[in-house]
Amino acid sequence: MRRAFTPTLLSASDERIRRLEDEISELRDLVVGLAPTNFRSLLRSYYLCKTREDTYGWKDDLAEKIIEAADVLPQQQSSYFSPRAYCPLCGFGSMSPHEEGFSLPEGLRRHLVGWGGRTHQCQIMVVAERSARDYWNREFAQTDAEEARRKAERKAERLATETLFRTTPYDSDAPELLDDRYRSARSKEDLKWAEDRLEQLGFQALKRERVISYILEDDNCVVYADPRTEGQITFRVFKKPIPKRKPNRFSITSSFSLQDRWKSDLKGKFLTRLNEVIAR
Ligand SMILES: [Zn+2]
Repeated sequence: MRRAFTPTLLSASDERIRRLEDEISELRDLVVGLAPTNFRSLLRSYYLCKTREDTYGWKDDLAEKIIEAADVLPQQQSSYFSPRAYCPLCGFGSMSPHEEGFSLPEGLRRHLVGWGGRTHQCQIMVVAERSARDYWNREFAQTDAEEARRKAERKAERLATETLFRTTPYDSDAPELLDDRYRSARSKEDLKWAEDRLEQLGFQALKRERVISYILEDDNCVVYADPRTEGQITFRVFKKPIPKRKPNRFSITSSFSLQDRWKSDLKGKFLTRLNEVIAR
């Protein structure tokens, strides 16, 4: 006899989690509902974001609109002139007993966006932001996953075709792309300039297939240069003997850098720093 089809039942703990999630969502709605009427739809405007990119400026734009709508306090006789206002969402003002409200616009903005930590952030904004993030994570789950996959594919393609940089002696440290570790990587011409500078310092450029490393060594240590970022070259110093396998605790002695703008007595500056690092 064939068994009748039964839908998958939620376990008791799944059921409990779902109930708690519903309750959190209701409580968040309740908190946002405590804001004055004219701000409620603004606080729920995260629904209007249609792409992940739309979400990036949402909080700042929201803070801006709230600041514009804040009621400026009448000027106090005792205080020098600087417009101030209480938070129109939660009614809070500065923590200082001598001040009313927040300075406009910066003090109120900091309270709204949570500048300098969450401690003094507007709790209604905190809740609105959490609702927004949950909503966006659900809404954009598929496009986020697609974007992550595309990114991984692009990276795999670049790793298979571009010049890679090795900046440690350990095989287990995979060679990296020009812009892997740094926000502003050097241009091709700039990299050539840095390579010339390394040559002046006595570094050898060792290239195996597409993997390049810049090395200077003596009997006691080996120095790996990393010229990938704009404005400076970083040097990592490793004590000899270099173990075949990377130790659990990174055996890098230390690192230092030389700024591109330094022109005079470069070799002297390099050796001073290298010797300081070795002496340590
Ligand atoms: Zn507030």
